[in-house]
Amino acid sequence: AAPAPILAATGLSARYGHVQALHPLDIRIGEGELVAVLGPNGAGKSTLLRALMGLVSNAGEVRFRDAPLPRQDVVAVASRGIVLVPEGRGIFGPMSVADNLELGAYRLRDKSEFARRRERVLTLFPRLKERLGQIAGSMSGGEQQMLAIGRALMAGPKVLLLDEPSLGLAPRVTDEILETLGLLNREGLAIVLVEQKAPLALKLAARVYLLSLGRIVAELDPRDITSHDDLAQHYLS
Ligand code: ATP
Repeated sequence: AAPAPILAATGLSARYGHVQALHPLDIRIGEGELVAVLGPNGAGKSTLLRALMGLVSNAGEVRFRDAPLPRQDVVAVASRGIVLVPEGRGIFGPMSVADNLELGAYRLRDKSEFARRRERVLTLFPRLKERLGQIAGSMSGGEQQMLAIGRALMAGPKVLLLDEPSLGLAPRVTDEILETLGLLNREGLAIVLVEQKAPLALKLAARVYLLSLGRIVAELDPRDITSHDDLAQHYLS
């Protein structure tokens, strides 16, 4: 049986001025599920994540567990535990790794919970532990991506939204990061993973949505995709 949804959007659409980047679509993420959203450049993948967060002018409803999320109020959405790691990572380059991590938990008042989360992040990403005092912008792309995910984890997410975490990274670093996402998911974290490099995402995903020109064109079981050359083949090359 499919898990109960932790996040469910119905009739979700988004526009930039006159540009309809996302046509009304339905998408659901189950409790503890890792869902991949695949599609070519400009398909609307980033826009979909922004619309879920209320970061772009959008219509439709997004429910988190039993309650609708407030519209166009990203602070309220984030405070429910829906946390976005944007494309380009959004870390603060001039600040240290330690300070970036601390900012991820800026709302947290509980010192022992803060320490527990920090320890967890540094265990997941030992490379960050070696670089706590380093200026974030001087790290490698892979390390910056680890920091971006680490900072998101400091917020104690219930749903983690990741926009192309593999972008520009060497395959080995990508694998390392995706393995960590897989581990977090096995521990029960719900994840939405947006990717262009499909094979990596398929290893981890329970379900896959294919996005094209702002519409969901297919919802697939990843085990089916590798077995035949349907339209998904297009996204795997
Ligand atoms: P990519 O992998 O290249 O980031 P994507 O699938 O994430 O692609 P989006 O970035 O969501 O796609 O873009 C979807 C559409 O919306 C594209 O046609 C894009 O040109 C348009 N778009 C995105 N951001 C804006 C913006 N700020 N203003 C106007 N149009 C935008």
